Amino acid sequence: MQRPIIDLRSDTVTKPTEAMLKAMVEAEVGDDVYGEDPTVNRLESMAAEILGKEAALFVTSGTQGNQVAVLTHCRSGDEVILEADSHIFYYESGAVAALAGVQTRTLPGSRGALDPEQVKRAIRGKNIHYPRTALVCMENTHNRAGGAVITPEQMRGVYQAAKERGVAVHLDGARLFHAAVALGRKAEEFARYTDSVQICLSKGLCAPMGSILAGSRAFIEEARWWRKKLGGGMRQAGYMAAPGIVALTEMVDRLAEDHRRAKELAAGLSKLPLTVYPVETNIVLVDTRATGYTAVEFLDKLAAYGVRATDFDEYLVRFTTHYHIGDSDIAETLNIVERVIG
Ligand SMILES: *Cc1c(COP(=O)(O)O)cnc(C)c1O
Repeated sequence: MQRPIIDLRSDTVTKPTEAMLKAMVEAEVGDDVYGEDPTVNRLESMAAEILGKEAALFVTSGTQGNQVAVLTHCRSGDEVILEADSHIFYYESGAVAALAGVQTRTLPGSRGALDPEQVKRAIRGKNIHYPRTALVCMENTHNRAGGAVITPEQMRGVYQAAKERGVAVHLDGARLFHAAVALGRKAEEFARYTDSVQICLSKGLCAPMGSILAGSRAFIEEARWWRKKLGGGMRQAGYMAAPGIVALTEMVDRLAEDHRRAKELAAGLSKLPLTVYPVETNIVLVDTRATGYTAVEFLDKLAAYGVRATDFDEYLVRFTTHYHIGDSDIAETLNIVERVIG
């Protein structure tokens, strides 16, 4: 008998819910480049309100949202301060260099959090030899730090350090709602310490595509121009915004279930000869060194039994829980991992 696949590679594998499919079919649409798609307009105003910002923009992906933000905040030759393992630095194909023409200054974070003192020291003063520091980027939750949550108080420290020097702050909040749910706080409590914020609708929230970029009215007006320039001006995009509305209204609170299952998976894995990193949200990072297998070898063995995860480094594996992973999948995964390394 064919085993069902337990796909823990990413929360991006989530498919739209029944409610989303229904909303798509029934969506009222228009040409969004003319600003005439009522469903896109509704999603953008709803997202702006949730994030406590004046305006928002529906973009095709998290990467596009981050890149439009960097393009809007910076000029060519500017410097951007980033956490050394951040998505914008690590996983966006070098786009900030290629598109915005900025140079990056990376600082090592502590579980993904930048140190305000280090940020302060890294911001350039006035000197004919220096680039202009235009932007500080944070990431919350922090993916490569294992879904680590940065508290609003930690964010405030970095925000104040930047603001003292007139530097803008962007948040890559691809999984911001995971942080909010984990702490029982509102998304706007985090977004308050930013000038712009990007959130993904298509990860744990299950929408088929799309992200939101939010900020001031003037910022979003310019961001809309950059999105068009990048080929992100979409027409009857309401069909894709409609599931985004469902994502924001129905799919946020249930992230707590993904967090609970990630903790259960971590607790089970930590009884085996694996080093399991602290779990705060829906990501479980596991070091495979003690098994003698590299991450890729370990993943090949799991795949033979239908369990899929992602390699994050030579001996580092990421498991990600999401909407389609139930309690029995966690139990089954633990059985299979035990069999594979036992
Ligand atoms: C997934 C992700 C993105 C980019 O999202 P895409 O929609 O895949 O382009 C950005 N930042 C973080 C932290 C992510 O995890």
